[in-house]
Amino acid sequence: MEKKEILTSELQKEFNKCSRCGTCMAHCPLYEATGMEAFVCRGKLELLTKIEKGEIAWTDKLAEIFSTCLLCGGCHYGCPNGVSGEKIIQLARKNMVETRGLGPIKKGVFQHLLNNNGTLNKAGKLMYLSSKFKVRPLMRSLGILKLFPKNLYDLEKMVPAFPKKNFRQLMADKLPQKELSNPRYTVAYFTGCVTQLMNPQVGVAIVDLLTANNVKIILPEQGCCGMPALANGDYKNGLDLVRKNVESFQKEKVDYIITDCASCLGAWEEYPEYLQDESVKELTDKVMDINRFLIEVLDVHFEPQLADGEKPIKVTYHDPCHLKRTPGGKTCPRELLKRLAPKYEFVEMKFADSCCGSAGSFMITHYDVANKIGEKKYKAARESGANIVTSACPTCIMHLADGLQEDKNIEVKHVVELAASCLPKEQQTKIK
Ligand code: SF4
Ligand code: SF4
Repeated sequence: MEKKEILTSELQKEFNKCSRCGTCMAHCPLYEATGMEAFVCRGKLELLTKIEKGEIAWTDKLAEIFSTCLLCGGCHYGCPNGVSGEKIIQLARKNMVETRGLGPIKKGVFQHLLNNNGTLNKAGKLMYLSSKFKVRPLMRSLGILKLFPKNLYDLEKMVPAFPKKNFRQLMADKLPQKELSNPRYTVAYFTGCVTQLMNPQVGVAIVDLLTANNVKIILPEQGCCGMPALANGDYKNGLDLVRKNVESFQKEKVDYIITDCASCLGAWEEYPEYLQDESVKELTDKVMDINRFLIEVLDVHFEPQLADGEKPIKVTYHDPCHLKRTPGGKTCPRELLKRLAPKYEFVEMKFADSCCGSAGSFMITHYDVANKIGEKKYKAARESGANIVTSACPTCIMHLADGLQEDKNIEVKHVVELAASCLPKEQQTKIK
């Protein structure tokens, strides 16, 4: 069998650093949930050695093993030799797709949906109409959805009712903020697909928070960050999206680029590496998580008051994997929540920084494993006594909301939604 060159020379050096010690097992959420070593970084590297040497070829079984990874980086940061397991596994997926091609569903989603804003927005409208006219609940109650492929069936359960207007449509009148004559900063907002289509209230909260703090926001043309396609090994569509976003944002003169999505942040940070173009760093160095921007750059403060007899609402926080290792990634969301007292009372939950199992599209392609990983988190959220679980990643929020949907006393929200609710009433936008 033919030998393969799967890794870049840089990643090959990383790969060679692996001493097969097995420490990564203790840091892998998949191992904790399944007990299967083939899923762990060491197991995958062992298999990759054989594929590279041409001793084994890509089979359905191997493809499933390499697809079963959250790219959470747990193995990387727990590894005594610092092996970038998640990057090696992602490149192995690229080789897998180049060798075997993409399945029809993934191909349709990455090429025709995520890489085409027109189709994506139409799909959002269709989802809204299907909720409005009760098509989804009807199909569910008649059992029709069970006839769908399992991935689509699981996805339908997880996806909330779509709003009538997406974020851009909602903000068409409000942005650009003509009333800001001398803004402190000008920022470009990268919204990510979930906020744009499903959770526009998160974007509206950010616009309210920044407007209240005299920050000008612009919304450049943009698409998906590219991560779903790249993570699944589809570099053709993934890189196409990366290039389009870079070209569009390079046209704007801004101080910062903000995002409310930990996964989009992680993707943007890797853009220079994906494009193999260091000059892109000039742009990507401006990217910042919204919580960090609010705390470290704006130093926002709030004055929420409790009415007579009103009690603080207990709130806890889940750390997204792609945010917790970035500067301020763990401290800023917590600091923001603490500044919302006395309206909200922040309580830490157990296992706050362990992976919840969502990992973007992983929770769709591997719903059952994702839920198994999430169980520890759902239990910890319940035990914290919080009525609101917050996070800073829309897909973690979707996954946690799905896992906690039977807990009627717990809501799951983005941190900025709570922060915006502490602004004076006249500074809050009401969504119709
Ligand atoms: S990836 Fe790191 S932790 Fe895992 S076996 Fe290799 S050296 Fe050990
Ligand atoms: S990236 Fe995460 S899920 Fe994948 S092997 Fe490493 S620790 Fe396990």
